[in-house]
Amino acid sequence: MYDVKGNLHKVLSDLPDGVKLVAVSKFHTNEYLLAAYEEGQRVFGESHVQELKQKQQSLPDDIEWHFIGHLQTNKVKYIAPYISMIDAVDSMKLLREINKQAMKNNRVIKVLLELHIAEEETKYGLTLDACRELLAAGEWRELKNVQICGLMMMASYVEDQEQIRREMMMASDFFDEVKARFFADDDQFCERSWGMSHDYPIAVQCHSTMVRVGTTIFGPRVY
Ligand SMILES: *Cc1c(COP(=O)(O)O)cnc(C)c1O
Repeated sequence: MYDVKGNLHKVLSDLPDGVKLVAVSKFHTNEYLLAAYEEGQRVFGESHVQELKQKQQSLPDDIEWHFIGHLQTNKVKYIAPYISMIDAVDSMKLLREINKQAMKNNRVIKVLLELHIAEEETKYGLTLDACRELLAAGEWRELKNVQICGLMMMASYVEDQEQIRREMMMASDFFDEVKARFFADDDQFCERSWGMSHDYPIAVQCHSTMVRVGTTIFGPRVY
């Protein structure tokens, strides 16, 4: 077995105080998750609803599950009873559906808004302007069963460290802007989630509070 325990401790030792680790366990078996669990890790990230359901049913109850991938609105209901945080919300439509399903389950679901800053073509994430518009429109304030806890982004998958740093700093500056404009009185809006296996050391220098690391802990995924 891959040295999950050793790798987990290596990543944790790289993280300054106050930076949380989401251990990204998608495509890895329960055995691997449990190895990290036994070392005290409680926060795990998954990106497929069906896979998450199977893991959630068979693994310990005190795991905090983060849904980190693109979530279709028609699937929110399956994870709403237990999900700890939905990390990649990029539309008002999805936010409304999360609120509706959270209400049905009598709970408040924490979410992050996903930004699209990377130069790469991707369908997902809000541009900075789209995010400003969503927040300025104000409807989110009426959704009592969702709590917007911060912002999430993925930097471009490139070798150029300076490009990664530029993109993460853009996200960090944008966080400061929306924090001041829309969340000044809201202590719960505090998370900046950037940094994955190849770029989390840069992310912690760019004010990340929550890195999402998979491969470095669990090894390569077999799809
Ligand atoms: C898979 C995934 C990660 C982890 O990627 P690694 O390179 O394996 O660390 C982080 N964030 C998101 C959104 C992912 O889908």
